[in-house]
Formats: sequence, C-alpha cells, structure tokens
Amino acid sequence: MNCDSASPYLDAFVDGELDSGVECALEEHLRNCSACQSAVWEIREFRSQFQGIAPRFKAPLQLRARVLSITHRSRVKPSFSMVRHAWIAAAAVLILSTIVVFLASAPDHSNELSKEAAIDYSRSISAQPIVELASADFSVLKPWFSKKVGFAPPAIDLRDYGYELAGGRVALLGKRPVVALMYKRANDVLIIYCWPPQQEPVGYSQRSVSGCRVYIWANSQCNYVLVERSDDPKISQFVDSFQDQTAPVSY
Ligand SMILES: [Zn+2]
Repeated sequence: MNCDSASPYLDAFVDGELDSGVECALEEHLRNCSACQSAVWEIREFRSQFQGIAPRFKAPLQLRARVLSITHRSRVKPSFSMVRHAWIAAAAVLILSTIVVFLASAPDHSNELSKEAAIDYSRSISAQPIVELASADFSVLKPWFSKKVGFAPPAIDLRDYGYELAGGRVALLGKRPVVALMYKRANDVLIIYCWPPQQEPVGYSQRSVSGCRVYIWANSQCNYVLVERSDDPKISQFVDSFQDQTAPVSY
C-alpha cells in the first residue's frame, strides 16, 4: 500500500470499519509513513473538535410544560386512564428526547465542509509539491481529472485577480474525491475544490476557519469550496460574479 491507495481508507480506519486484511495493510503503511499518520491524526482531531462544538438545543418551554402536565395528570388520575396517560407520557418523552438528540447530533454540513477544506488547504500548502499535475492548461487538466475522479472541472480563470493556475490534484472532502485547483499569487495560495452537485448541492456560506477564508457555493455545474488566506475583498467579488455568470438559466 502507498499513500494514494491508503488515503481513501483513512476515514473508515478511524471509524474501525475496515476489514482485517485492508486494516493490516494500512497499519503496515502507517508505521512507516508520517504523512498518512498526520492525516489520521488530523481526522481524529477534526472529529473531536467537531464533537466538542456540536450545537445542543434545549426543548422549547411549551413542549416541556406539556410533557410535564401529561405526566402530572397521569399521576393524579386513577386506574385505566392512568395507564393510558402513562403511555402517552412515555411516548411524548421518547419523541422529545429523540428530537433533542437529533438536533444535538445533526451536523452543520457547510461548517463541517469548511473545516475539512481548511485542514486540507493547510496540509497541502505545507506539502511539496502542492499539485499532482502541474499545468495551467485546462485542456491538460480536464482529461486528467476525468480519468482520476470521473469528472472534469470547469475552466476557472483568476488572472484578473492576479492568480495564476499552478495545477491540480485530487483531494478528499466529505469522504468523496474532489477536484482541487491550485492558484498562486506571489506568496498567496488559493485552492478551489469542486465536484458535481447531483447528490448534495451545497448552500452559500462564507466563514473564517483557522486563519483561512472559506467560501462555499454551488451552481448547476458544480459545488465549490474556495479557500485562501489573503482576505482579499476581491475574492468575495469573484465568488459573487462566478455565481452570476454560471447560474442556471430558468425560462
Ligand atoms: Zn502514506
């Protein structure tokens, strides 16, 4: 096993979901590969951070009052109706706790995606080389990505913003392989991740994560995540203009 063949298994490895053959091969590789070790560490770190900040919600006051009043009534009413009310109360408590557990565990998808992208960004700007295929030519990059991930990214030109395309590589976001396009401007690195939107179109968001600015948006062609550190207001303009230019036309 090498880094390329190991990387798709890292999440499942952390979850303990691999069959023993693959797990052994991966452990063998991890023993000798500090890059994959740190990737596993980052996956774990990311999950524990995420668990730590997952939102918790209290049940609304009215709902709590209603459940309490049902349980109270069941205590004062006798015999058959008491049993019936006890059942209703039990069901209400069950539904209430299900709602609370669901709300507490439902992930904010774009928040999670932003964090993953920021981690991948930081990891990739510290790695050498930061691209698998160094090319500024989409006629070279498109067929290469088609072969690798079954999807060719749209040509995105950022020269108006001072960024030159340095090349591309395959990254993992939300456990799926995605296209990562690397752009450079002096010491600034900007990465655009994209993948087809069919399964889960993303909503627009913009946030700061560990010193990175992360934009998420989608149009009919792609879901996009853009990560950069320069905090250049022009990038926000680009995201807006890019949404408009390629927004699906409705008749
Ligand atoms: Zn490795």
